Amino acid sequence: NKEILFKKPPVGPVTDDTFELAETAIPSAGDGQFVVQAHYMSVDPYMRSRMTNVKSYIPPFELGKPLQAGIVGEVVESNHDKFPVGCYVSGMGNWANYTVTDGEGYNQVPSGPAPLSYFLGILGMPGMTAWVGLTKIGACKEGDNVYVSAASGAVGQVVGQIAKQMGCHVSGSAGSDDKVAYLKELGFDQAFNYKTCGDLNKAIATANPKGIDVYFENVGGPMLEAVLNNMRFNGRIAACGMIADYDAASASDVSTSPRNLPIIIGREIKMQGFIVSNHTKECIEWIQQGSQWITEGKLKYRESVAEGLENAPQAFMDMMAGKNFGKQVVKLV
Ligand code: NDP
Repeated sequence: NKEILFKKPPVGPVTDDTFELAETAIPSAGDGQFVVQAHYMSVDPYMRSRMTNVKSYIPPFELGKPLQAGIVGEVVESNHDKFPVGCYVSGMGNWANYTVTDGEGYNQVPSGPAPLSYFLGILGMPGMTAWVGLTKIGACKEGDNVYVSAASGAVGQVVGQIAKQMGCHVSGSAGSDDKVAYLKELGFDQAFNYKTCGDLNKAIATANPKGIDVYFENVGGPMLEAVLNNMRFNGRIAACGMIADYDAASASDVSTSPRNLPIIIGREIKMQGFIVSNHTKECIEWIQQGSQWITEGKLKYRESVAEGLENAPQAFMDMMAGKNFGKQVVKLV
């Protein structure tokens, strides 16, 4: 068994010395426990905040202990009635080949048309986030003009496709021309490269000729300020993430945007943050709706797959730097 330990809290962007690879014995199952051999492990932006000792909705990683991640894999030893040997499960595990657990927060995953890794992506936490943020927090409805940032990523590509299914005008931005081409393939009405577009305000206006009813916020920073200028009366902003500021080493490094916040008053804009795990009912709803759309061939999902646990730290750093193309996972088996 291999594990990745949390060695040193990063200051600014994460570097190799944040992590340490360790060889350990395969754990065994105690009373009421089972052992999962992870086939895939997820790396996600929220992990960056767990590397910092600030008060948050989720506790920081413990120094010297394995980091944690969403995993999907096979039960290989079990003393648990609900999770027999041979079944496939998803839940929170260690950055490791094997995890022992009492099953809290675990679900069995069906063997069906969806690949196993999808339970870390479109049929897992990121897919649920897209559904909750767009339909519940953003109160999106048919005919709305929807704009999503980090649009080709784990969450963003699902947001755009759901909005198309709902009959919306959909636009998105991403950090490379390849990613923009992919958004067009997915059926986005408009897409642009926010790194090369020049004036962000104008690029957003061109991509959203009627203005924006629902902004699905994944990045924050200067993007949010430019979006506010383009919001329509009664617009909604689903504040999902603000990755542009996650690497800030101190409060003074956090971007000062948006400087035009008073716009939300005159245009009666609602902006609401959310944490996906607080919206269980809608998460379950998504598993049904998303599975159905996948079976019907109505959704596509792109992934970046790194191979081997030892490459998980690099996969995480690459994802934070935008080198992933779609949902970043690590394949372990
Ligand atoms: P992605 O797969 O989208 O990967 C992160 C992407 O962020 C990168 O590929 C890069 O894309 C983009 N990015 C990185 N730095 C910047 C920057 N400075 N400015 C603009 N874009 C940047 O990640 P996820 O889909 O998993 O997550 C997207 C967002 O959703 C994150 O903010 C995350 O924290 C949030 N989230 C929130 C949840 C909740 O419950 N509230 C749950 C899950 C995710 P590009 O090449 O396009 O720049």
